[in-house]
Amino acid sequence: MIFINEKCRINVLKRDEGTDFLELLKSRILHEGRIEGTDVVKVDSFLNHQMDVGLLNEIGKEFKSRFLDQPVTKILTIEASGIGIACITAQYFHVPVVFAKKAESRNLDREVYESKVFSYTKGKEYIIKVSKRYLGPEDHVLIIDDFLANGQAISGLKDIVTQAGAHLVGVGIVIEKSFQNGGKAIREAGIQLESLAIIKSIENNKIIFKEVGRENNEKIIKD
Ligand code: 5GP
Repeated sequence: MIFINEKCRINVLKRDEGTDFLELLKSRILHEGRIEGTDVVKVDSFLNHQMDVGLLNEIGKEFKSRFLDQPVTKILTIEASGIGIACITAQYFHVPVVFAKKAESRNLDREVYESKVFSYTKGKEYIIKVSKRYLGPEDHVLIIDDFLANGQAISGLKDIVTQAGAHLVGVGIVIEKSFQNGGKAIREAGIQLESLAIIKSIENNKIIFKEVGRENNEKIIKD
């Protein structure tokens, strides 16, 4: 059930006994998501700008349950949107979060792993960097991010895991857009990919979720 907290002017999520969290997540995407162009979904009210910490907490628990048996030692993400999700998830794994930096920084160590990433939403290429201090061959890495589109961000992070000689345990994504090809490539590479909501298509300003054996999830998105 979604509760609207009028005082705080935010939607807060509380989990009742038996409430299906994945249905709640999809409902938030449907009701609060805004479509930009033909293929970008903005969920700034709960994930990418204002953050619903209750919802992030449930996301963290869900990722923990999906990678329960894995010996994760680090969670790796990319700044900025991945950081909040990764931090809350990390509390369930009791491991540190390392985030790849996009911005040039004088504070960053000289010894870094780096990789090129083409930003789908910004339409430009940038270099991501991770200090060699914080990732090494002893690590079992779980990559977490908010969205998966063409897989460029994940591919850059995966490249950094490889450079570090670390083991990639899997990838956890909050919203995958399966009409773009990132998910297919990751699955075909034999990597465990766990996407909590999968958008199959966007048609006439409607978000259509991939069927997961539940009722019809199609709903009109209002601007
Ligand atoms: P990819 O690298 O898989 O092409 O794109 C994933 C990255 O681009 C994510 O880190 C995310 O920040 C951003 N992104 C891609 N598609 C969307 C979208 O529809 N909405 C939002 N908010 N971000 C997106």
